[in-house]
Amino acid sequence: MGFDVDLFVIGGGSGGVRAARMAAATGARVALAEDSRLGGTCVIRGCVPKKLMVFASSFRELPAEARAYGWDIADGSFDWTSFRSKLHAELDRLEDVYRRLLEGSGVVVHDARARLADAHTVELTTGARITAKHILVATGGRPERPDLPNAQLGLVSDDLFELEDLPQSMLIVGGGYIACEMACILSGLGVKVTQYYRGAQILRGFDDEARGLIAEAMKDQGIDLHLGTNIVEMAEAAAMAGQGDHMGASAAASASLLPSTGKRGCPVWVKATNGHEQVFDAVLFATGRRPNSDHLGLEDIGVSIGRRGEITVDAYSQTAVPSVYAIGDVTDRVNLTPVAIREGMAFVRTVFEGQPTPVDHDLIASAVFTQPEMGTIGLTEEAARAQEPIEVYCTSFRPMRSAFAGAQSRVLMKLIVSVATRRVLGCHIVAPEAGEMIQLAAIAVKMGATKEDFDRTVAVHPTMAEELVTMRTPTRTA
Ligand code: NDP
Repeated sequence: MGFDVDLFVIGGGSGGVRAARMAAATGARVALAEDSRLGGTCVIRGCVPKKLMVFASSFRELPAEARAYGWDIADGSFDWTSFRSKLHAELDRLEDVYRRLLEGSGVVVHDARARLADAHTVELTTGARITAKHILVATGGRPERPDLPNAQLGLVSDDLFELEDLPQSMLIVGGGYIACEMACILSGLGVKVTQYYRGAQILRGFDDEARGLIAEAMKDQGIDLHLGTNIVEMAEAAAMAGQGDHMGASAAASASLLPSTGKRGCPVWVKATNGHEQVFDAVLFATGRRPNSDHLGLEDIGVSIGRRGEITVDAYSQTAVPSVYAIGDVTDRVNLTPVAIREGMAFVRTVFEGQPTPVDHDLIASAVFTQPEMGTIGLTEEAARAQEPIEVYCTSFRPMRSAFAGAQSRVLMKLIVSVATRRVLGCHIVAPEAGEMIQLAAIAVKMGATKEDFDRTVAVHPTMAEELVTMRTPTRTA
């Protein structure tokens, strides 16, 4: 039977675009549908705008540091409106690059929403029906608010890049990547940030010492971090202002003074599990993301969907329906852009290049762009200790650059080593530019480097990362 195309990709984010382009390069006839903006979460409302905001926020500390180094330089102020318009111009440019890359590869782009009518047919909101030999679902995920009355009053990460004004105060709920990164960014941009995390320590799943150091650094930069705390009630502050019994007098007074914020964000009265009541100019829910698997017609054609809405796939990203594959956040495996890209590339090798290629999800490095950053690969001390006997090499110190300027901030370099094999099982760095450092350390760890390989490497001096190759004595064994 003849199909209209060899591959139909649903979703124009990092994974879908890469798979479409690579498949087209093999000579396949490829179409792609995206109902929002090309580039997806990473480019439009995730990694890229977030990292530009990290850069924007990092200048706050610079004048004081420069003065300590002898520069005659005054503190400045941040202009959100000016930054935001440049940010959006950059995102428009990148979206255009994605479109040109796709079209230049011969991929036919449909600016429409798609659903599967059967195992080989895609229906578009334009009314078109297109048959495809293979269908790749790469629809990503979306932020999820907690199940709480009035939760819609809170922002989610997508909204942050659209705000017309920066709020003066913000409550961030959550303790994961997005909550911690946004707490540091917004605090750096001058917002008074309060953060509630329901657990005992932020960044669950990361190395305990690294989490502890980041939590301390966040508090030192003025973030009012409350652990073991969650929202129990929330309401629009304006509605609560008349109800003095629900709202402290000062909160009621401040509600009327609050500046108007942009899209959706409005002053919100919040009651916390610790009994504390406060009004914030805006609340941000960074309480996790959910796969975009709804309304695609997947279950009707026999694709199996897990409890969290994730599409169930095998090691080759194939679903229960042989012609339908899925990659990226919609499969909820490792929800990172470079992983979605790898999954897309492995799919093309498997299906269009005749080389069955499972996706290697082992030893994936990642960075959390807090200030300071965390870069990490491999096992945490806690996970490694549960697995086998280990040596821990760890050092924490004040780095030269900021110590000279009188700052107390510390960095952390940590290696987890297997006693039996001598392999470095984990590497954890908390430091400025830790994301850059871990990318390089990750090559060694992925290659199976031993502690002795690290030791044989001559230090690059004077750097922070040289500590990774100069730690001689284990801090502890376990
Ligand atoms: P995470 O799953 O990392 O964190 C969600 C946080 O919200 C956790 O602290 C969780 O607590 C908390 N939470 C969940 N439900 C509730 C609730 N009902 N009430 C209160 N708190 C709640 O999600 P993120 O949204 O931060 O990030 C999503 C994914 O995006 C990440 O896993 C990561 O893969 C990716 N990402 C990667 C980045 C990077 O590489 N730098 C940056 C941003 C995102 P608990 O710990 O108790 O479950």
